[in-house]
Amino acid sequence: MIDLRSDTVTRPTQEMREVMAKAEVGDDVWGDDPTVKQLEALAAEQTGMEAAIFAASGTQTNLIALMCHCQRGDEYLVGQTAHTYKYEGGGAAVLGSIQPQPINNEADGSISLENILASIKPDDIHFAKSRLLCLENTTGGKILPLDYIEAATNLASDHGLLNHLDGARVYNAAVKLGIDVKEIVKYFDSVSICLSKGLGAPVGSVLCGSKDLIEEAHRWRKMLGGGMRQAGIIAAAGIYVLENNVQRLEEDHENAAMLGQELTNIPQLEVDLEYLHTNMVFLKSSEGDFTALSKHLEQKNILIDARYTARLVCHLDISREDIQTTIAAIKEFYA
Ligand SMILES: *Cc1c(COP(=O)(O)O)cnc(C)c1O
Repeated sequence: MIDLRSDTVTRPTQEMREVMAKAEVGDDVWGDDPTVKQLEALAAEQTGMEAAIFAASGTQTNLIALMCHCQRGDEYLVGQTAHTYKYEGGGAAVLGSIQPQPINNEADGSISLENILASIKPDDIHFAKSRLLCLENTTGGKILPLDYIEAATNLASDHGLLNHLDGARVYNAAVKLGIDVKEIVKYFDSVSICLSKGLGAPVGSVLCGSKDLIEEAHRWRKMLGGGMRQAGIIAAAGIYVLENNVQRLEEDHENAAMLGQELTNIPQLEVDLEYLHTNMVFLKSSEGDFTALSKHLEQKNILIDARYTARLVCHLDISREDIQTTIAAIKEFYA
């Protein structure tokens, strides 16, 4: 099976499974799991933050961060298409009593400084308290420019807001830019990172931030039902991927670039090459939706995400050969 639906579909390798099987464990709710602690220390070190906390998913680490930064009746500024707003079941509002202030995303994935400024509320009893700016990087595979991040987070700070980064795929951005991930994360008060996307761990995310923030995060994680016991079994895979699978994200970016480039030769397809920064290829078709293409590919054991637009995502389990097979199958369909 060539599964291009998402980079969440990777399976743990034999080596990773061995590391997991041998992991030293304890009850992490009691603070006794040495492997979880090791992962948290490694994540904090790599991101240049004081501390980190391991959790079950990126949805959970984002929600924990929002609940740490915002009180009941506060609001966070966030992109309309951002994961924390659109794809997390409204958790901030439902579970955190935090009001989202969604703002249109520009074509490059950013939220304009003008719109950020216009959305920050003055201190007035009519308004929710603007408390936090939440950015996402990468977003739809796009990398936010560093100078934009600096300007947006400075603008927020100047108005008394905190900054959170949904960095589910922030390592993709760092590797593509050829910089240390610290250079992206340093503008934020907290960052959530998925270990289970392109990095290839089976489960888990980390939230990194100040010592105080992470201490409070422990309380919210427990309340959300996210206190896990011998979690070192899965944390071991997290350590493994942070140590071994970061630089190889390059291969995914190269595969995606090649896939996107080749598909531009098909007249019925429109490929967004300008924003093909990392591991995701988005397609538009003059023939409308992608149901027929998706069915055709499925018969050839190739899966794509055709729910909204067509999205093809490169990852650890997709080889150069798989890309060539996919290109041939798509060309055949349109021929
Ligand atoms: C996947 C993802 C998340 C959440 O991750 P889960 O582990 O699936 O809950 C958050 N933000 C972005 C941008 C993501 O792609």
